[in-house]
Parts: sequence; structure tokens; C-alpha cells
Amino acid sequence: MAIDVLSRGSDTYEANRGAFNLLLSQEPAGIVTPTGAADVVDAVEYAKAEGLRIGAQRTGHAAEPLGDLSGTLLVRTAAMDTVSIDAERRIARVGAGTLWGDLVPRASDLGLAACHGSSPTVGIVGYSLGGGVGWYARKHGLQANRVTAVELVDATGSERRVDAANDPELFWALRGGGGDFGMVTALEFELLPIAEVFAGALFFPVERASEVLHAWHEWTMGAPEEITSVGRLLSFPPLPEIPEPLRGQDFAVIEAVALLPEAQAAELLAPLRTLDGVAMDTFASQPPAGLAGLHMDPPEPAPYAGHGMLVGELGTDGIDALLAAVGPGSPSKLISVELRHDGGALAKSDPSHGAMDRLPGEFLMFGVGIVPEPAALAPTKEWLATMADAVKPWDAGRYLNFSDETLDIGAAFPPETCERLRAAKAKYDPENLFHANHPVV
Ligand SMILES: Cc1cc2nc3c(=O)[nH]c(=O)nc-3n(C[C@H](O)[C@H](O)[C@H](O)COP(=O)(O)OP(=O)(O)OC[C@H]3O[C@@H](n4cnc5c(N)ncnc54)[C@H](O)[C@@H]3O)c2cc1C
Repeated sequence: MAIDVLSRGSDTYEANRGAFNLLLSQEPAGIVTPTGAADVVDAVEYAKAEGLRIGAQRTGHAAEPLGDLSGTLLVRTAAMDTVSIDAERRIARVGAGTLWGDLVPRASDLGLAACHGSSPTVGIVGYSLGGGVGWYARKHGLQANRVTAVELVDATGSERRVDAANDPELFWALRGGGGDFGMVTALEFELLPIAEVFAGALFFPVERASEVLHAWHEWTMGAPEEITSVGRLLSFPPLPEIPEPLRGQDFAVIEAVALLPEAQAAELLAPLRTLDGVAMDTFASQPPAGLAGLHMDPPEPAPYAGHGMLVGELGTDGIDALLAAVGPGSPSKLISVELRHDGGALAKSDPSHGAMDRLPGEFLMFGVGIVPEPAALAPTKEWLATMADAVKPWDAGRYLNFSDETLDIGAAFPPETCERLRAAKAKYDPENLFHANHPVV
């Protein structure tokens, strides 16, 4: 056994056990920090010999549903952060520890883009195994369905390369079914020939939230697939690192990315950009790398509670219900409540797709509140529950990458997909060695 196992009590264990949500305290049986696939093989063999389960983690962004790790060897993949891009074939190859922020600027320099999400600090493998809803999603669908090959260490401790021709059933399960089938060591996926996008955000005083969100929601009904947009309520804490016009302020915000020439995009977005009361308009043509800060995700770990769900066509009543629950004048102190416009390519099935064939619903909703002290947890959870209750009549299921709760996969997949995922798990990991955050069993 060549790989070092970090044990409880050591400084290196402490340095590697953190989750993105600072409310969580991960205490695995041991931690390994592999630098390549051979180390991952060692780790799997060690876990089996010690009677432990094994789970992979890059950022710990989605750590909450993992639950108890006391019988699990945690594989932190940060050191496996290799990136290579074949610009001619438009294929990227990344190691298990690569973040979107490691890849997107390099692809962008080559006139290419990936189906990345809103945050550069998210791990590509976790995002891709769970689906991946990004800025080009209405035109190009889920990142999972852009994956062309997965390299992993399986439950027997063997390295495997899985693609459409080699082990198609495992390839299907991995693309949306999550980390329950093996320790992924590398991923290959398609890049898109996108050199420039027209993108930005509109900030309105939060008092105008009703007009703004209604106008945006109505606008989405006629929006082309080339535009992916978000309508949200956003509060900036009064912290010195937040720039002056935003610091300590509450806004209604519209964000959008258009895969269209500037003049055409500007014309389509004009009804939103000319709404009364725009306090700031950041729309501009830019390379894909420019999108890194568009959604203003927190770059550093923080204490928080969040809740995500898919919702159908909300209509005027749904937007009103959401605003009454968490909008201005409500008790809510959530820092962000967002609706991401789905549909388009996200809603289309294709036989070549993986387990997450399509994303149901019209909008992906996510609410989040900061929990600076333990006493703030209960009210934050109450505001999140009020938000979820308000849109319950439009509930369209769950997207597991946006779920911090432990859920049965039936919440996210139709029954026939659940059955097929469970059959794949029984075939490829019959002893349930792998400990994923959203297990399929
Ligand atoms: C700030 C923020 C912004 C986000 N934005 C988006 C977005 O725009 N679109 C979107 O779709 N999602 C988004 N997400 C959700 C994100 O996609 C999920 O949290 C995802 O699971 C993160 O992957 P990770 O590797 O960074 O997290 P981790 O917590 O490290 O991993 C999550 C899970 O992925 C699996 N996994 C990770 N690495 C491996 C591996 N090598 N082998 C096998 N399994 C593995 C494991 O099951 C693990 O429990 C966002 C999350 C945050 C916190």
C-alpha cells in the first residue's frame, strides 16, 4: 500500500476534511489525497481490506447528504487537477480534481466553451455526474450528456475506461446517476465552438421585485433556446469586500447569457433592459471566461442552509405566491432566491443520453440563507420551507445537484430510470462499497 492514509487528529486530516458548508463537520474514518489513478486503486484496496466504504469528494460543495462518514474512507481529489484540450476535436480531458475555473478560461482562449455552471469553484466531476445545468443549458442541455468517456476505479479495484462502446450500461448510469458506481479518475467531454456571448445582469431596487419578476417570467415564455436566464431576489451582506453600490443592498436581479450576435441578443433582451428602475446594467459581449462572476456565487466556504426544487410553469399566481412568501415585506432574510429558466434542450430526451435524460419542469428554484450562528438555523429553515410551500402546487421534482437533503432517487428520476440505476448498482457495486452523496440504492 503506497498511499498515505490521513488519520483523525493529524494536521493533514484537519486540513482535508472540510466541506463547503461550514455548518457541517465531516469526520471520515480516514482521508487519502491521491495524485493519480494508481493511488485511487490503492485507496480502494485499502478500504476493502479495512472493511470501510469509500467516497470521492473534490470541493465538498454537496456534502450534506453524505451523512455519517465514520465508516468511510474519504478520497479528496484536489491534487488530480490536470486539464488538456484537443481543440481540433473539441474534446476536454480533466482529472478528477479539476474545477470549472481551471478549464473554462483555457477553453475560452481557444474560442471554446463547456457546459459549465454558474460557479468556477465547482468540481467538474461532481457537477457532471449529477447532471450539470449551466449557462448554455437551454441550447445545449445537460453537461452529463456532453460526456464522452469516464475513467474510473471500480469496486474490484480495477481501472476501467467507460464510453458508449465500452460498457454502455455503466456509461449510461454515470451520466446523471452520480458517484455511486466508482471512483472517477478522469473525464472527457465535448466542448462547444463558442468564442463570444452577450451576457450580463440587471439590478433593480428590491421594491420593484414584483414588476421585474413578473415581466421576466412573461418574457421567458417567448425566449429562444439561445438565451438562458435567471430571475432572482439577491441581498448583499454589509461586508467590506463587496463593492459599494451593492454592499448591504437588496435587489431584484435578472441575469442572462445569449448565444446570439450582439444586435439580435440586445433586441431580444430590450424589453427587460428598458424596464423602469434599472439601477445597474452589466450586459456586454464577452468571451465565455467572462461569465465566471455573473451569478455572484460565494467563492469561499460559508455557513448556510439551502433548498432546491424544480417547478413547472408558475404563471402569475406562482410568482405572486413566491413573492408573498420570501419577497420584500415578508419575514424572509434569505440572501438569494432564484429561478433558473429551464426547458429548451434541457427538456428534450435523446436515446444517446445518460440516466439524466432530461430535466423536468420549467424553472430550477434555489433559495439560500446564511447561518452565521447556530440560532439562525431554525428561522432560515423556516423561510426555506415557506418558499417551498408557496410553489408546492407547481412542484416538478428534484434536481439532485441542487438538493442538500437525503432523498430517494424517485424524487429525481422516473420509476423506470430508478429501476435501471438500481440494477446497474447491483451489477457494478454489489457490496455497496461506494459512498455517494445521492445513493441510488
Ligand atoms: C456555489 C455553487 C454553485 C453551483 N452552481 C451549479 C450550477 O450552476 N449548475 C449545477 O448543475 N450545479 C451547481 N451546483 C451544484 C453542484 O453541481 C453540485 O454541488 C456538485 O455535486 C458539486 O460537485 P463537487 O465535486 O464540487 O462537490 P463534492 O461535494 O466534492 O462532490 C459531490 C459528489 O459528487 C460525487 N463525486 C465527486 N467527485 C467524484 C469522483 N471523482 N468519483 C466519483 N464521484 C465523485 C460524489 O458522489 C460526491 O459526494 C453549485 C453548487 C454550489 C455550492
